[in-house]
Amino acid sequence: MEKSTDVILKVDHLSAAYGGIRAIDDISFLVNRGEIVAMLGSNGAGKSTLLKCLSGEHKRSAGEVTFDGQPLPGQCYKIVERGISIVPEGRQIFYKLTVLENLRVGCCQRNDKDGIQEDLEKVYKLFPRLEERKSQFGGLLSGGEQQMLAIARGLMARPKLLMLDEPSLGLAPIIVNQIMDTLKSIAESGTTILLVEQNALKALNLCDRAYVMNVGHIVMEDTGSNLLKNENLMKAYLG
Ligand code: ATP
Repeated sequence: MEKSTDVILKVDHLSAAYGGIRAIDDISFLVNRGEIVAMLGSNGAGKSTLLKCLSGEHKRSAGEVTFDGQPLPGQCYKIVERGISIVPEGRQIFYKLTVLENLRVGCCQRNDKDGIQEDLEKVYKLFPRLEERKSQFGGLLSGGEQQMLAIARGLMARPKLLMLDEPSLGLAPIIVNQIMDTLKSIAESGTTILLVEQNALKALNLCDRAYVMNVGHIVMEDTGSNLLKNENLMKAYLG
């Protein structure tokens, strides 16, 4: 699919704190429709806090967010309704629900039976392993399968924007490659992706553009391919 340049997510001067300590400070960035945008940075840079502010899990202390041309409110349920899904750090699947039940949680706000069935078939096509294991409890899946389930659950809401927090964390390199390939297919089929990652090389190879965060600020922005060539990037900001 050809990438268009209309903006789907616009973040203006966003700040957030824990008590008196600012975790993100005056962050502004854009995501265009159809893009994969990576948000990189070392531990504590503020990446997860940023996603939590966008998903409504953490309160913003300042700033505006516009999604799909309209202001994006802070409440979680409205965010899902508006077309944003988050795949949280650590997967957070339901261990005592089956794979299929976990997937149904992802579409609990929908009532279009045919559309839900269509999306179920799509996620099984993306992750055949999940179809094989649809009756198994989430807690019995391997780490890679749980990550697949978390992504598939996010897709079951049929989002316009899928935000992922560290999907490669704790996974074997071969599984990380599979996950990155799947994210590429998801973007190619029209879902915009905002990817928070510590695995900078994998993320830069996948994304169209990336922003680099350091102690709560965005300090660099460029295409993935240009940042891959930037020798100072790893040394200065990505450990
Ligand atoms: P990591 O990759 O390690 O998750 P990150 O870039 O996602 O790092 P955040 O988790 O957003 O960074 O943390 C940003 C800052 O906010 C850090 O200084 C961190 O210690 C602090 N912080 C994060 N969560 C909390 C919390 N619940 N209470 C207090 N401080 C927090």
